[in-house]
Amino acid sequence: LGKGIVDAFGKLGTNLILDDKTIDAVIRDVTMALLKADVNASYVQKLRDEVKSQLDPKKIAEGANKRDLVRQAIIQSLIKLVDPGIPPFQPKKGKTNVVMFVGLQGSGKTTTVAKYARYYQRKGFKPALICADTFRAGAFEQLQQNATKIKVPFWGKKDETDPLVIAETGVNFMKQEKFDLIIVDTSGRHKQSADLLNEMEQVANTIKPDDIVLVMDSSIGQSAYDQAAAFRSKVKIGSVIITKLDGHAKGGGALAAVAATNSPITFLGDGEGFDALRVFNPSSFISTLIGAGDINALVDKIEGLNITKKAPDMITNLVGDKFCMKDMRSMFEMFEDIGPVSQMMEMIPGGMGRMYENLRQQTGGGSDEDVAGRMRKFVTILDSMTPKELAMTKPLPPERYPRLARGSGQPLGMVEYLMQSFKLFAKMGQQMKQIMPSGLSAEEMM
Ligand code: GDP
Ligand code: MG
Repeated sequence: LGKGIVDAFGKLGTNLILDDKTIDAVIRDVTMALLKADVNASYVQKLRDEVKSQLDPKKIAEGANKRDLVRQAIIQSLIKLVDPGIPPFQPKKGKTNVVMFVGLQGSGKTTTVAKYARYYQRKGFKPALICADTFRAGAFEQLQQNATKIKVPFWGKKDETDPLVIAETGVNFMKQEKFDLIIVDTSGRHKQSADLLNEMEQVANTIKPDDIVLVMDSSIGQSAYDQAAAFRSKVKIGSVIITKLDGHAKGGGALAAVAATNSPITFLGDGEGFDALRVFNPSSFISTLIGAGDINALVDKIEGLNITKKAPDMITNLVGDKFCMKDMRSMFEMFEDIGPVSQMMEMIPGGMGRMYENLRQQTGGGSDEDVAGRMRKFVTILDSMTPKELAMTKPLPPERYPRLARGSGQPLGMVEYLMQSFKLFAKMGQQMKQIMPSGLSAEEMM
């Protein structure tokens, strides 16, 4: 997914004028990448409107880095999608908090109630667990085991088949015993059948919880919206917990759960152990989802390199029809500086990544080390040129190749490669010039 987003942001680098079409194309690519992470298609329009409203030309300051603005706008809009702007329920000290957990069987409820109890136990609460799942065989034993492991009292009755009776008597008992966080685990079954939903509604009406937590498995993908909406149609979901983020799923479906319930995500589960519960943070969740961490790291790296400051003449000459042999030497030095990491070059928006890729292919492909080795050979050849030859803006005539080969100790074929590469770079410079709007400097373009 990260790559899809990086490609999309890469478009910003080659499209110099940020018109609606460019922004649309970028959003479309970002959307495609999000779809692959199970983000619901209905977000396309929402996201587009959001990004566009943030990119109102009237609001953009003169001289602002537009590429950065688009990137930020997209990330901010995505964060809004997982953050409904409602403060999540927090149990209060000095009163009895009743929290009911709902969700499909297997989503991780019984595991998560224990994690939740432990989390608040450490914050000084006195939690108690109630097993109102009378449907699943062994549900009581599972909760009993979990509760024992975390040393939290529990309530349940193996022979009682009515969840309402258990929930009601359990909550009342724990209230009398002065537990201040009473957590009720309920049945999930396999489908969100009418029976399940009605039972859940009745339990909620009986115990009147302060919060209802919907537990969702991150791998459910595109069905997240319908599932969350079905639960929401019967009870007022106040919080969402997404589980199993330690697996393959990135949890894009979580965005849909938020939209369907209009409730905040409070925690993420990322393991089977009872400590594997993280407080939800919208921006780091989005960063993981779209690989923005990579993007930011890359931007930092590029800025740190200060390519245009290191080789200003090379860049100006490249687009100004004055690209000479000496400039090519500067370019190879620059590539060497960056560290020939093709994966990273791919991520660099604008011309540099393409140049490197062309260089790689034109000189016979291979690994980064192969390319680095060839660049070193190229530099040796360039170093055996006379100052006059270095100033040339055209490939040298072939009769000079043998002399250069001898002088540098390189095979003739290498000299030929070098000249081919030169032509290619000069041509690319001209292509770049054509797409450059007047008034934009070479530095801005890179
Ligand atoms: P319930 O049917 O909703 O009560 O789900 P359970 O709590 O019984 O969990 C179903 C399975 O998912 C169990 O094997 C749990 O250990 C596992 N599980 C729950 N949460 C997580 C999680 O965050 N990560 C992983 N890897 N497994 C989890
Ligand atoms: Mg269970």
